[in-house]
Amino acid sequence: MSNTKYGKYGGQFVPEILMPALEELEQGYEKYRNDPQFMEELDYYLKDFAGRETPLYHARNLSKKYGTKIYLKREDLVHGGAHKLNNTIGQALLAKYMGKSRLVAETGAGQHGTATAMAGTNLGFETHVYMGAKDMERQRMNVYRMEIMGTEVHPVESGSRTLKDAINEALRDWVSNVENTHYLIGSVVGPHPYPMMVRDFQSVIGNEVKQQIIKKEGRYPDSIVACAGGGSNAMGIFHPFIEEDVKLIAVEAGGKGMEYTKDAALHSASLSVGEDGVLQGARTRILQDEYGQILESSSISAGLDYSGVGPELAHLADIGRILPRVVNDDLALEAFHELSRVEGIIPALESSHAVAHVMEAAESGELGELVVINLSGRGDKDLETVIGLERRK
Ligand SMILES: *Cc1c(COP(=O)(O)O)cnc(C)c1O
Repeated sequence: MSNTKYGKYGGQFVPEILMPALEELEQGYEKYRNDPQFMEELDYYLKDFAGRETPLYHARNLSKKYGTKIYLKREDLVHGGAHKLNNTIGQALLAKYMGKSRLVAETGAGQHGTATAMAGTNLGFETHVYMGAKDMERQRMNVYRMEIMGTEVHPVESGSRTLKDAINEALRDWVSNVENTHYLIGSVVGPHPYPMMVRDFQSVIGNEVKQQIIKKEGRYPDSIVACAGGGSNAMGIFHPFIEEDVKLIAVEAGGKGMEYTKDAALHSASLSVGEDGVLQGARTRILQDEYGQILESSSISAGLDYSGVGPELAHLADIGRILPRVVNDDLALEAFHELSRVEGIIPALESSHAVAHVMEAAESGELGELVVINLSGRGDKDLETVIGLERRK
């Protein structure tokens, strides 16, 4: 049953009833990923709907201040304000080619739900998003966004009324409606083929960087730095560079510290300090207690606040091809302000973790002389969080 693709990680740890759906998806993906019409249509949506390609911007002021040449890959300029739409457009289009008419997704803070609503609406799907009732209270703006686009948001009242309960409900919906429904996962996580498929759809980021950096610098960068929650923006920019002589650094959320309470971690650093286990249908590195119960994670940024990480990233970390690093809430917040003040670009709190690592490590020489940061999203969505924190200080 397991289709382990990444060393000891990955596989398909799902109820038997879902296996035919995964098989159908795998076959559909294999068929259309090389279909010229599919690829042409995908390019069209990425360009005219999502706004690609995104610029590779030389951050002159930041470079000068930190003594190394820094480029920002501007995923913050994608429609919706983050890289997430690259994946939701890809999967929605695939689902359309496969003859599906319904999309289901779960969402934590609402960012993936919003990106699913955009792609689903545009491509003519009936779109359903499951969201913990507690998360809905905390993220009202994203709930409105989805609803305005005609997406049905289903409150999940079971368990802790957060993301993991929403995942269960979305899966339940998929199982009951598998004939006409595609389950749209938002990161390089879940059972095979999702980690591969999401990575491929996000690889548009790294493929663009390859061409752009050669044009601008005549060579590949010394290092690429990306934040990692589930790991889709990181895998998207890393994947085309895996075979190249480029240092790849994945920055996780260190939250309030590397400690634990009884049932929660104060951080989200599953790649750095997680242990092998099964989460959301795949074997990977996860935050768990001594009995294998999943520990809740914590981070200032909703997008990095996840107890697991994509199986391919876990494998690449095992073999030393990517380097995991940790940045805590305070440093990320500092970087949020620093990039805003120095470059006039307000980064997402997620992306701020990557920026913070570069600010910290630039002097040590670890990053080399030419660095690309994946600026995965813009910070407008985080202003309330940041203002709230400043008030409390
Ligand atoms: C969701 C999100 C992330 C985290 O997701 P990955 O799959 O790890 O990329 C990072 N940055 C932004 C702006 C996000 O919205």
